[in-house]
Amino acid sequence: MEKYVEWQNLEEMGMWKRFLVAFLLATIAVVPCLPVQGVPVFIPAPPPDDHGQNAWPVYDIQACYDPGSGLIRGDLLLAGQGQLTQFNIPANAPYGAGAHLTVQGVWCDGQPVPWDLQGDCLQVTSEETQYTKILHISFQTQVPQKANRLGCTGETSVLAGWYPLLSPAGARVAEVPYGEPYFAEAAIYRVQLTVPCGYQVVAGSSLTGVGHDGDTRTWHFHSQHPIREFACVVSKDWQVTETRAGHVRLRAYADQARTASLATAKKALSFFQTIYGSYPYEYLHLVWVPLGDLAGMEYPGLILLNSTRVTDPQVVVHEVAHQWWYNLVGSDSCREAWIDEGLAEYSTRLFFGGHALAGAGPAPINLSLEEYKNRAAYRLVVYRSGLAFWCQAEQACGRQGLQDVLRALQERYRFQIVRGEEVLEYLRQYGLPAEVEMKFFPVSEAEADLR
Ligand SMILES: [Zn+2]
Repeated sequence: MEKYVEWQNLEEMGMWKRFLVAFLLATIAVVPCLPVQGVPVFIPAPPPDDHGQNAWPVYDIQACYDPGSGLIRGDLLLAGQGQLTQFNIPANAPYGAGAHLTVQGVWCDGQPVPWDLQGDCLQVTSEETQYTKILHISFQTQVPQKANRLGCTGETSVLAGWYPLLSPAGARVAEVPYGEPYFAEAAIYRVQLTVPCGYQVVAGSSLTGVGHDGDTRTWHFHSQHPIREFACVVSKDWQVTETRAGHVRLRAYADQARTASLATAKKALSFFQTIYGSYPYEYLHLVWVPLGDLAGMEYPGLILLNSTRVTDPQVVVHEVAHQWWYNLVGSDSCREAWIDEGLAEYSTRLFFGGHALAGAGPAPINLSLEEYKNRAAYRLVVYRSGLAFWCQAEQACGRQGLQDVLRALQERYRFQIVRGEEVLEYLRQYGLPAEVEMKFFPVSEAEADLR
């Protein structure tokens, strides 16, 4: 069922009418609206979760991207409940590496509201309600010329962290360029991205259509289920390789056929579905792009692999594992990276049939990103000692016991954020000693050089 509501009219509505709109949004499957520019958009109502309780926020983004100038002009319509007051702006943090996001205006249910953008944090003044509100943020993002997670290299642009993201429980973006310096609540996404003809868009979402208008094309996406964020790559002339794993269509986008990596991803997807639970989306995209120092990077439904390096199958498997540990079950990647990175590494070991490779890092594994001081120390501790922690948990709980715990976490926290203490509580029930610490592992001489 579809009903039309004119966006401009929201500004003239009285309170009861706005409540009526909120009610419609909460009960009708899809409500198309008209944004300020007069282009129709669709706001799907937040659906209830499996327990019929929580409603996820809905991000409805319309944006135009000009790869020539690197400028994105966007309008974000966010339908949600509770506090919609603080947004993270990764583009303006060290993560953005010279990117810059500006805000042109903010409206709540059609009424202009005060806002304050300070660096990588946008504060919006709006009242907390139990009803669904629609927040409209008009923004522009300048994408830097750089091989970065938000950057343009030649004809290829990677767009991740390019729009305002609702802050999960007030968490801020970490002030470092390494690791995953921000995280987000799961949300439904509908995105329309307009680019010049000749460019293609591959996203961590399902492509639902492409519209033509003169010398531009508008690519329409829907996430199908909640995802942590919407990332995409804009480029030309991809060679596309495709395979299927049950209901999931896996596609590789690169300058050459990538059948080996695709086969690895397919096997990993099937393996992790068996041990952790279903992968609900019908898409998983692997895209080769210049990524600077990174071998790979995970986004929901979208795996980026560095096109300037030989692709390591372990990196492919690691990034597939992140679809469960980061996307389906979220965690605080700024302060508790031992959960998602440690589990991505542990999952990779499981996939390749390896056993405990006791890692040794120079610091505890549960520090904030800033406390690791640099990328090398962060990687050494969080990946290697993070893996060692999970191997220790396997020894204490047994391999089957640990898999029971991980599967239970996937069921309990799917589309939510799990805290480290909650993970430890599950592990303790299966035999992890109560006094276990986030080990301060000894460091070897070779590794000491990385400090
Ligand atoms: Zn990782």
